[in-house]
Amino acid sequence: MNILILGGGGREHSLAWAVKQNPKCDRLFVAPGNAGIAQIAECADLEIKNGDEVAGFCAENAVDFVIIGPEAPLAAGVADTLRADGLLVFGCSQEAARLESSKAFTKAICDACAAPTAAYARFTEASAAKDYVSRTGVPIVIKADGLAAGKGVVVATDLATANAAIDDMLGGQFGAASAEVVIEDFMEGEEASFFLLCDGETVLPIGTAQDHKRAFDGDTGPNTGGMGAYSPAPVLTEAIAQRAMTEIIEPTVAEMARRGTPFEGILYAGLMIKDGTPRLVEYNVRFGDPECQVLMMRLGAQVLDLLHACAERRLSAIAPVWAEDHALTVVMAAKGYPGAYEKGTVISGLDALPETASEMTFHAGTAIQNGQIIATGGRVLNITARGATLQEARGKAYAMIDQIDWPEGFYRRDIGHRAL
Ligand code: ATP
Repeated sequence: MNILILGGGGREHSLAWAVKQNPKCDRLFVAPGNAGIAQIAECADLEIKNGDEVAGFCAENAVDFVIIGPEAPLAAGVADTLRADGLLVFGCSQEAARLESSKAFTKAICDACAAPTAAYARFTEASAAKDYVSRTGVPIVIKADGLAAGKGVVVATDLATANAAIDDMLGGQFGAASAEVVIEDFMEGEEASFFLLCDGETVLPIGTAQDHKRAFDGDTGPNTGGMGAYSPAPVLTEAIAQRAMTEIIEPTVAEMARRGTPFEGILYAGLMIKDGTPRLVEYNVRFGDPECQVLMMRLGAQVLDLLHACAERRLSAIAPVWAEDHALTVVMAAKGYPGAYEKGTVISGLDALPETASEMTFHAGTAIQNGQIIATGGRVLNITARGATLQEARGKAYAMIDQIDWPEGFYRRDIGHRAL
């Protein structure tokens, strides 16, 4: 089959890498792609939030199956447009994408299906929000309702910070995305990510992971899109995963179906785990980046069969083959990220790196210029490896990094520390 993947980050490189290994994949297109993806797929310059443009490309190129990587096209309703055009799509509808694009919506779903999560209230008026915070006390969590590129959450440990966040958000910090705030009780515990395929009815867990949000070693520095990840997440034991399934995930999926807006695609549950009890922090409706990279490495070519079965609503008839091993990815970013950084710097040494089923360099913000790989974004490379143990995977990933020459880049040296 001919396949189109939407997106151009490390997540989409790893998806393309896994899909490409499956003999059922004929032509593979990725839009817009990047320099690493261009080595294994045909890149197309499409406006991926425009469903009609994507549908037109599919018709011209006899695309049979579309896999949507990022949240923006999902929230823009691209999956709906493509399905209405008769295309087979992996990715949820615009209405189901509200599980990520509206925190108030997710809270309402949790209320309706009694899924354990933090107590909360919603506000559009700053004075009422501040009254609530002064009554509830700190620590407390202030969240913009809508999508804010990972910057719309403030964990406040004092009232002044909480009040400032309320003023900023309701004052228009994120435009319409922060016209409403959700204020939540602070949950203690350890966070982990749980990934599930859903075809509207059947839910199939496909792995767990933990990421590293802070820029620098020891979980210090500013928050980022993620500086590294590993799978599995030891904190998400089989027993806790089972509880998350029956207490949180299955009730959510049933509630979405009951409302006539079934969830179809990948559900990524961010969980807070304390004393063996999982509670929901958030849902995302796409693979995490960089969590996807470690999941793809552990699942390999069967990913295409799984995503295809999900899109065809055949999940109840398919069983993943589990690798009992570990994968770890280290993000290399441009110095200065997540703040201002230089673009166009040259990266060398990549040609000599191994490219095997257990060692891969997934590209994020890269391009080719005059035959050289240059950095074009904040997060640039994902050095990914698997091993029988997490220690082994980590050793391989850092050994690869040692061969890369990019003076303008940086990375964390302690990815995996929580699990080791
Ligand atoms: P992401 O970039 O992960 O998609 P987001 O902007 O959608 O982030 P959340 O995941 O809801 O926001 O929150 C970001 C982080 O803030 C969480 O990963 C968690 O560390 C922290 N957090 C959010 N809600 C709570 C809570 N109720 N208690 C404790 N920490 C929380």
